Amino acid sequence: FLLQLFIPLNFLGVVYRSMKYAFIDMGNLFKLLDEKPEIQDKINAPALIVGDGTVEFKNVSFFYQKERPILHHISFTIPAGHKVAVVGASGAGKSTLARLLLRFYDVQGGGIYINGQNISEVTQASLRAAIGIVPQDTVLFNETIFYNIHYALPSANKEAVIEAAKLANIHEFILQLPQGYDTLVGERGLKLSGGEKQRVAIARAILKRPKILIFDEATSALDSHSEQAIQQALSQVAENHTTLVIAHRLSTIVDAEQILVMANGMIIERGNHSELLALNGTYSQMWALQQETDN
Ligand code: ATP
Repeated sequence: FLLQLFIPLNFLGVVYRSMKYAFIDMGNLFKLLDEKPEIQDKINAPALIVGDGTVEFKNVSFFYQKERPILHHISFTIPAGHKVAVVGASGAGKSTLARLLLRFYDVQGGGIYINGQNISEVTQASLRAAIGIVPQDTVLFNETIFYNIHYALPSANKEAVIEAAKLANIHEFILQLPQGYDTLVGERGLKLSGGEKQRVAIARAILKRPKILIFDEATSALDSHSEQAIQQALSQVAENHTTLVIAHRLSTIVDAEQILVMANGMIIERGNHSELLALNGTYSQMWALQQETDN
């Protein structure tokens, strides 16, 4: 009899213990969520009114982990239709600026404004619809090349897709593919080079026609033909767009209205190419170094 009683009680103990562990786990889960909160729209957040697309970083400070601050009091403005380029050593915080503008993270100090609206106050969907991004490494779907451009604007017709491909300097290349626009690309199809993928991304951006454009230049140098094709394509799409360029090769940003030189999460120099050369500081050293390696 005692044994009979013992077994169910023991069983209850097991249930109790596993429930207790379950609660502890949930406690941990909430703690984790606390530390890395999902970015959420505010209740009744309005859609962004893009207007002329002016972008402003006002005194922005940011860290991924509290113990390691990444950006310190960053302020700059990209006036509507202008191009601002960011340069600086690897790890300086350049790509972080782009991630914050897309609101993949919230800033811990200061604010980011588009056309006067704080981006944390508007819906993420409307924010991201206003921004086109040409990333360093474009991911292609295992679909046709036509699909890969068209998906940027599903309402676009065939002519608009071809027009975008022409402006992005990729149309001629596509016509040479075995099935033209119907050629399968991506991991399971035809693999495109880095430069070709970037031009597909530019075609997407041209089709989407966002007011604001982020161009994250590839770190690895492309051959000069590819580079030229990309720069030409980019100037097509950047015209009349507010553009943030994260640059690795200074030769591509000589024409930028403003260049920000970043080091350790701070802007240490700013100005256009000739102003920065005249400063005889970090930028002019970087320029001299790149001239040497290019020749
Ligand atoms: P690169 O020219 O090499 O692309 P970058 O200037 O764009 O460099 P960021 O990518 O902005 O640099 O990174 C800035 C710093 O933030 C780096 O020290 C990096 O290690 C750190 N960092 C980047 N992403 C994360 C993350 N998700 N979590 C923690 N730290 C990160």
